[in-house]
Amino acid sequence: MANLKELEKIVGVDNVYLDKAHLIAYSYDATRSSFKPDAVVFPRDEKDVSEVLKFCNRNRVPIVPRGAGSGFTGGALPSEGGIVLAFEKHMNRILEIDMENMVAIVQPGVINMDLQKEVESKGLFYPPDPASENYSTIGGNVSENAGGMRATKYGITKDFVMALRAVLPNGEVIRAGKRTIKDVAGYNVVGTLVGSEGTLAVITEVTLKLLSKPKLSKTAMGIFPDVESAMRSVFKTMASGVTPVAMEFLDALTIRAVEEKYKIGLPKNAGGILVTDVDGDLEINLEKDLELIEAKFRENGAFDFKIAKDEAEAKDIWFARRNASQAISIYGSKKINEDVTVPRSKLPETLKKFGEVGEKYGIQIPCFGHSGDGNIHTNVMVDGKDPKAVEIGYKAIEEIFQITVDMGGTLSGEHGIGLAKAPYMKMAFTDAEMELFRSMKKAFDPNNILNPNKMGL
Ligand SMILES: Cc1cc2nc3c(=O)[nH]c(=O)nc-3n(C[C@H](O)[C@H](O)[C@H](O)COP(=O)(O)OP(=O)(O)OC[C@H]3O[C@@H](n4cnc5c(N)ncnc54)[C@H](O)[C@@H]3O)c2cc1C
Repeated sequence: MANLKELEKIVGVDNVYLDKAHLIAYSYDATRSSFKPDAVVFPRDEKDVSEVLKFCNRNRVPIVPRGAGSGFTGGALPSEGGIVLAFEKHMNRILEIDMENMVAIVQPGVINMDLQKEVESKGLFYPPDPASENYSTIGGNVSENAGGMRATKYGITKDFVMALRAVLPNGEVIRAGKRTIKDVAGYNVVGTLVGSEGTLAVITEVTLKLLSKPKLSKTAMGIFPDVESAMRSVFKTMASGVTPVAMEFLDALTIRAVEEKYKIGLPKNAGGILVTDVDGDLEINLEKDLELIEAKFRENGAFDFKIAKDEAEAKDIWFARRNASQAISIYGSKKINEDVTVPRSKLPETLKKFGEVGEKYGIQIPCFGHSGDGNIHTNVMVDGKDPKAVEIGYKAIEEIFQITVDMGGTLSGEHGIGLAKAPYMKMAFTDAEMELFRSMKKAFDPNNILNPNKMGL
């Protein structure tokens, strides 16, 4: 192993940590798995990133970029040891908000919510809002191509990244994309780096598209007898010409858990709930959208539809969805959660089949999520202290992935592959496709130093 003390000459003594406390603190992410790095390094600027990468490339030291460590798939974990490169200390500034071109330029360590607040104070809008918005970073969001509650109308992170600066594993700085709406010169390197989970290059600057902030929004909730009719309503509504900002769902098990834990008065006979938001600048348009949504929901089986009268009521409606993840802990101490995504028209059949998997193994699989995007958070709940139950849980997960792939869906809509889903890549991609991914990795990182052992590569 190279002498890691040498890193102090590059970034300064205050920005290299080799002590136990730091190594433990940076060994985790939201998966709760742990791999200890050999050093934690806080680069001050792009030049530091470049010099640290040159050092790693020369000495064949693995290096893992890290945002807030809120990832759900182990992407920021140093599974091969080496260096964790963290941006929260220095590279966390909003560099520019260009009002005329409606663009923000930020460093990778900027927290998503800080950017949202800053642009909203100027009447602008950055829509991607992962539920981790209060702590996850733009670097992490770009690298995982994060989604959020507003993706149904506005899209996901990739739809807002116009340009990037990044450093290749050999230390070379590259620029990809432009501050322009259109740019078709050269390969789409921005598209390749977005969602690349820190395996191809270290992102050092991000140029993001901004929108005008809509003046008004309204929230509504539809109650259904079963989750299939709720899911049918999703694609029927979307195909009818209305585009809600959000279209989120809870299935029967999730509704029961929320009610048991929080007693907020959800109907006992509800088998599915859809929560939806619409926005715009004119009250009349919002009312028309909600009328259409209500008609589509009722046509497809909703027996109740409630529109929030004010912000407090909207907050109440959203409470069930926002607290679903905590509530389902009533079903088991270990949650194996995935974020599979299918074409919207396949949602009813997919949810039915997931229910059958639960029945087959005698386990609870509450589901909720971003149904407007076809994105289902499946939660296989088991007793974490019982190894047999955990084994059964993973068998159920494998079936869930197979059903998803058979439906024309994808293993991950927003959390990425990382370490957690790497074993399942073979189910979703052919040998030729996996080989193409490996060649791409090799082109960027011939010595395999950058976030090695991720994405099943
Ligand atoms: C409670 C909770 C709710 C969540 N809700 C959502 C949600 O609604 N939608 C969603 O999409 N995700 C969600 N997530 C998952 C997670 O927050 C996102 O994946 C987020 O984008 C990760 O950001 P981070 O800053 O924590 O990145 P990290 O977890 O630190 O890193 C994620 C990946 O990005 C890479 N990376 C980080 N910075 C850079 C960089 N500068 N250059 C290159 N690679 C880099 C890392 O190597 C790693 O592979 C949630 C997580 C939690 C804990």
